[in-house]
Amino acid sequence: MKWRTWRMAVVLMLIISLAVCGCGRKQEPQETPGFTEFQTKTESVKETEAKTDKEKESTKETEKPEEKETDRETQEQTEQEAETLPSMAESAQMETVPPSEPEAEPSTQPQTEPTQPQTAPPTQPPTQPPTQPQTQPPTQPQTQPPGPSVPVSGSRMIAIDPGHQARAWNELEPIGPGASVMKPKTSSGTQGCVTGIAESQLNLTVALKLRDALQARGYQVYMVRTSQDVQLSNKDRADMAYASGAEIFIRIHANGSADPAMNGVLTMAPSAGNPYVAHLAAASNALSASIVNHIAANTGQRNIGVLATDDMSGINWSQIPVTIVEMGYMSNPDEDRALNTPSFQDKMVQGICSGVDEYFASH
Ligand SMILES: [Zn+2]
Repeated sequence: MKWRTWRMAVVLMLIISLAVCGCGRKQEPQETPGFTEFQTKTESVKETEAKTDKEKESTKETEKPEEKETDRETQEQTEQEAETLPSMAESAQMETVPPSEPEAEPSTQPQTEPTQPQTAPPTQPPTQPPTQPQTQPPTQPQTQPPGPSVPVSGSRMIAIDPGHQARAWNELEPIGPGASVMKPKTSSGTQGCVTGIAESQLNLTVALKLRDALQARGYQVYMVRTSQDVQLSNKDRADMAYASGAEIFIRIHANGSADPAMNGVLTMAPSAGNPYVAHLAAASNALSASIVNHIAANTGQRNIGVLATDDMSGINWSQIPVTIVEMGYMSNPDEDRALNTPSFQDKMVQGICSGVDEYFASH
């Protein structure tokens, strides 16, 4: 039994030793070292690549800041140049342009603008009084009648516009400088209800007589037209009157109405609020008042007075004191006949001349 047990023990020892040795060999595979090496190699490669990337990044980071800095420098330089340029420009302006001008412009503009409104109001009120002339008429005509025989200044020039022309001119023109409202350049005018005479012809007939009468009183006279066959707009006429050098502009017209009973003489002048010739309102109203009052006193017509109007092209384009004389109503049978009678026309003309005398006595 001891032999068997010894052999059993030896066998067990051998089995154990074999088992232990076999296990040791199996736990050391040859592939693993190679795999680990590969892993380590790849890791190292990755690391190196990462390093190179990091290096690249680092180089990029190092390069970028430099570029940025250089950019900043260039920007700063340009900014400095920009700063220097304006400064140079300012200095140049300071040298070339007198420093007083930029200061003077802003200072003068505000000063002139405020003064205009201040000056304008005062001028307007005085122009409204011209409506007073309507009250003056009765007194002045009575004192003036003896005046006509006394010639005034012989060197003063008067422009006369016989209203209308043979044919109307329906093209449009603004009713004043910068106006958006348009009117025909020359309307046809009215016509005698019994005589059948065209207003343009009556206007020309009386205007030619007026020219002669004013010249007889020593005035110089400029006629816008002496013929029916002309093509002149109302603006043209105002321009011609101003270009002639005349001091005043008298426009000869006759009236018309749907009411045959309507009659009387009136004159027209711009109102104090006229957007184009407000500065001529006072003088124009004085001239208009003097003329209508003397006409009415001479002819015995109803004195309608001075009508304020701001939509007459020939008035709004004028650059000198201006009046429209509406001698009477050609739509009224009696007045139509009278207006076309030479003796009545002479009274009319002498009345206008007396009005001009009166106006020039104070202007
Ligand atoms: Zn007319």
